[in-house]
Amino acid sequence: MRFDIITIFPGLFTGPFDYGILKRARTTGLVEIGLHDLRDFTHDRHRTVDDRPFGGGEGMVLKPQPIYDAVQSLDLAPKAERQRKKETVILLSAQGQPFTQQVAQELAATERVVILCGRYEGVDERVNEMLCDRELSIGDYVLSGGELAAAVIVDAVVRLLPGALGNPDSSRYESFGAEDSPADDKGDGPPRSTYGSGGLLDYPHYTRPADFMGMLVPEALAGGDHEAVRRWRRRMALEKTLRNRPDLLEKIDLADEDREILEELREQGETES
Ligand code: SAM
Repeated sequence: MRFDIITIFPGLFTGPFDYGILKRARTTGLVEIGLHDLRDFTHDRHRTVDDRPFGGGEGMVLKPQPIYDAVQSLDLAPKAERQRKKETVILLSAQGQPFTQQVAQELAATERVVILCGRYEGVDERVNEMLCDRELSIGDYVLSGGELAAAVIVDAVVRLLPGALGNPDSSRYESFGAEDSPADDKGDGPPRSTYGSGGLLDYPHYTRPADFMGMLVPEALAGGDHEAVRRWRRRMALEKTLRNRPDLLEKIDLADEDREILEELREQGETES
């Protein structure tokens, strides 16, 4: 898979792509990341990438010509053929559609992703219409530029590529993962540390020591009873989702047992408040 990032600050990416899973994926050739300085596609002495907005108002806007030339230099398929060729061009924007785990999965199934990083007030809208396939936002807040958002997207996508993680199940059964526990995790075998989330947030994790400054690891995890571990993890995933992201519960097909646990948790919450 290849990413091409178009930015006025390519130097901003030296850190995020040089550690951990991303570094390994680059070294092993699983992913290639090309950084393109937008100023290399300007034609004036000052290497101008921005200009004043039509209609007035504060701030500057990234001009369309350098971005057009930068995208042209990447030799992509024409827009209408990109999906078939597994290519996509993303404009980063606070006004974009939400970047979610599902979008990360869709991008992980492509072969080539071009990311345009905006700056200032944003990018001339004709760039969006003419060159881009998607407009994505990483959250409901405004960043000063698209570079950090691009790093977030590359990270979330690369870890989904087969071979990127030591254990592929780590990215299958985690927060937001649509997949529920595999059938072999419902039997008598040892529970996986990555017990299926089925759309819930992940359950809490613990490691040694069992007693940290008087705080003990939950009993269910320390006793070696596989079924108890599975039940505890499901309950905790439901509890955490109810507490931090109740909106996710609306989208999940819950089992009767899950609904009973939620009922209990809600009653418990009411008595505690
Ligand atoms: N005027 C824009 C607005 O109000 O929506 C904000 C522009 S922002 C200061 C500059 C650039 O940062 C944007 O063009 C975009 O590329 C990037 N950016 C800002 N917030 C973002 C977000 N939540 N997700 C992705 N990119 C974002």
